[in-house]
Amino acid sequence: MKIIQKDKEKAVFISEIDESLANAIRRSANEIGILAVDEVEISKNDSVLYDEIIAHRIGLIPLKNEKLKLREDCDCKGKGCMKCMIQLKLSAKGPGTVYSKDLKGKAEAVYEKIPIVILQDGQELELVAFARLGKGIEHAKFSPGLVYYRNFADIEIKNCNGCKECVEACPLGLIKLEKKPEIENIWKCDLCEACVEICRKKGNDSITIKPSSEIVFFIESWGMIEAKEILSEAVDAIKENLKIISKA
Ligand SMILES: [Zn+2]
Repeated sequence: MKIIQKDKEKAVFISEIDESLANAIRRSANEIGILAVDEVEISKNDSVLYDEIIAHRIGLIPLKNEKLKLREDCDCKGKGCMKCMIQLKLSAKGPGTVYSKDLKGKAEAVYEKIPIVILQDGQELELVAFARLGKGIEHAKFSPGLVYYRNFADIEIKNCNGCKECVEACPLGLIKLEKKPEIENIWKCDLCEACVEICRKKGNDSITIKPSSEIVFFIESWGMIEAKEILSEAVDAIKENLKIISKA
């Protein structure tokens, strides 16, 4: 495994893992327990938006993940209690914009300035929101981020006449041409073949691109958990599911 990028928000690595395993990891990112608001009790809403729209917007606000029990595994048997639920309160009075940071409680929004609604002078919004852990397979708001992969590109250049057309043609600007063409950051190549096309048009056929057996794996977090945690917890989810299969 060769790591190209490792930040809180994004991780990129190249690996020779099998495509079926890469796909299993990708899919299992949606089996990680992620915190999101699931129920909203609105006691006052003078704003121009319906209760349902406000509830939907609050549901989609990414929250920093907390260690909670999944509701179905909790002692309360799904009723909702302190161990499996976090309560957030919002109370705002216009004029002004109500932001995600106005949700007060034991969970915190990843980004403070996500607008919920604009209140005019004298308008009020009062509500209680209940956040719980859920999985992306249930609803997209519980998904931790984007996980995707593609084949690593094998690019071969021979008999180049140095016309430089391919440098312009590459939409990602990966080709540099000094004395001979060189490709920078090949992992960014998405096999669009724009360079191959323009080279052929110019009567040359010097570039060939083939997908290699290696895979470039991308993880982009929405901020609830770090990118590397998405990978490790997705792998844990696969292990758990395999345990269930072997037991059965
Ligand atoms: Zn509970």
